[in-house]
Amino acid sequence: MKAEIISVGTELLLGHTVNTDASHVARELSALGMDLLQVHTVGDNPQRLETALREALTRADVVITTGGLGPTEDDLTKETVALVANAPLEEHADSMARLREYFGTRPMSANQAKQGMLPRGAVAFPNLAGTAPGCATPAGDGRWVLMLPGPPSELLPMLHESAVPFLQRMSGAVIASFMVKTFGIGEGTAALRIAELTGGANPTAATYAGDAEMFVRVTAKAQDAAAAEALAAPMVAEVRRLLGDVVYGVNVAGLESVVVSELARLGKTLSTAESCTGGLLAKRITDQPGSSDVFGYGMVTYANEAKQRMLGVQEYLLRTHGAVSPEVARAMARGAREFSGADYGIGITGIAGPGGGTPQKPVGLVYIALSEEENIWVRVMRPQGRYLGREWTRRLASSHALDMLRRCLAGLPVEDQWGLNPA
Ligand code: ATP
Repeated sequence: MKAEIISVGTELLLGHTVNTDASHVARELSALGMDLLQVHTVGDNPQRLETALREALTRADVVITTGGLGPTEDDLTKETVALVANAPLEEHADSMARLREYFGTRPMSANQAKQGMLPRGAVAFPNLAGTAPGCATPAGDGRWVLMLPGPPSELLPMLHESAVPFLQRMSGAVIASFMVKTFGIGEGTAALRIAELTGGANPTAATYAGDAEMFVRVTAKAQDAAAAEALAAPMVAEVRRLLGDVVYGVNVAGLESVVVSELARLGKTLSTAESCTGGLLAKRITDQPGSSDVFGYGMVTYANEAKQRMLGVQEYLLRTHGAVSPEVARAMARGAREFSGADYGIGITGIAGPGGGTPQKPVGLVYIALSEEENIWVRVMRPQGRYLGREWTRRLASSHALDMLRRCLAGLPVEDQWGLNPA
C-alpha cells in the first residue's frame, strides 16, 4: 500500500518547528510495510493544502495529514479534507460529548465546538491528550485521508492507539517487526555484511543509522501475529549471525537498559567516575527503572583535585601523563570501584571540546577504562576526521563505556577490536 504525508503549519515552513511528526508517522508506516512515496509541508493555507491533497490522492492509497486540527482560525485541515473528500462536516456525537465533558461548566466557543465536527463517514480517532479528535475519512476509490493533530504529545498517542491499528486493518495483514541493535559497526559495513538479506520483499531487512549506533530492522507481514513472527525469526537469527557480537540486543531500549538488566541478573554493582561526560553516563544508567539495585555511586570529578581527593588518583600520574591519559582513566575506574566497593568501576577522561585540544591530545580524544578486581581495560576514542561536537563526543564516550561493560558481562573481548591496550 502506498502512503503520503502532508504536514500542515506555517511554523514548519519558517523553520521554527522541526517536523518530528512526519518522522514519527514515517517510522510507523515503514514498520507496517507501507511504501511512503512523498512527505510534503504546506503552510496554513487552504488552497495550497487542497492542491497537495488532490495530488497526493492521485498517487497514494492513504494520505496522512499532521496539524491544523485545533480551534484557531488558521486550523483549516478538516474543512479542506472535507472539501476534497466530498464529505461535508457533521457533528460527531462521541467527539462532541468528549468536548462537553472536557469543558464542563466552562463556556465553549463556536471555534472550540467546531472540533466536535468530522467529515461524513469518518472514523473518529479520540484525542487522549487534548481536545481536537483526529479521524480517517474515506476519499473515494478505497482511498483514505487520516488526520492527526500537530502537537507531538497529542499525535503520538493517537498514532499508536488509533491510526496504526486502522492502517493495519486497512492492509489486512499483521506486521511483526524486530529491531536488531548494534554498537561498534558502521552502517556501510553492516549493510555489506547483510547484503544477501536486503533484497527480499517479505520478510525485509533494512539498516538504520542511530545515535552513534546502527540498527537492522526485520519486518514480516502475515495473516496473524504468530505467522508474521515465525516468518521473521530465521532472518533475525541470520542478521545476528552475520553481524556477530556487535549486536547488543533485539527490540531492547538501548545499551544502558541491557547493561542494567545484565548487572541485576548477575547480582553485580557498578560505580562511575566521569570527567568530560559530566555525569551523562550516570544519567543514562539512572534513567533505567531498577538501576538503584546495581548503581550506588556516580562521581563527576572534573578538576584534578577532585580526581585526587575522591578517587585517589596519584598526583604523579596527573603530572607525568596529564589528566587525559589512559593511566588516569584507569586510576579513576579503579578509584571509583574501590571507593564504593562496587564490582565494576568505570573512569572516563577526555577532551569534549570545542576548545582545549593540542596536537598531541586533540579535541575528541577520550579514554574510557573499566576496572574489575585485578582486570582493567582501556579504550581510546580518537577523533575520526571531522570533530562532531561536544554533545556527540560525550554521548559516544558514554556509549563506549556501556559497551565495554556489556561485553565484559557477556565474557566477550572488551577492547581488542579498538586496537588499543596500553600496558
Ligand atoms: P492545536 O489543537 O494545538 O491547535 P493542531 O492540530 O491545530 O493542534 P497546529 O496548530 O498545527 O496543530 O500546531 C500546534 C503545535 O504543534 C505547533 O505550534 C507545534 O509546536 C506543534 N507541531 C505542529 N506540527 C508539528 C510537526 N509536524 N512536528 C512537530 N511539531 C509540530
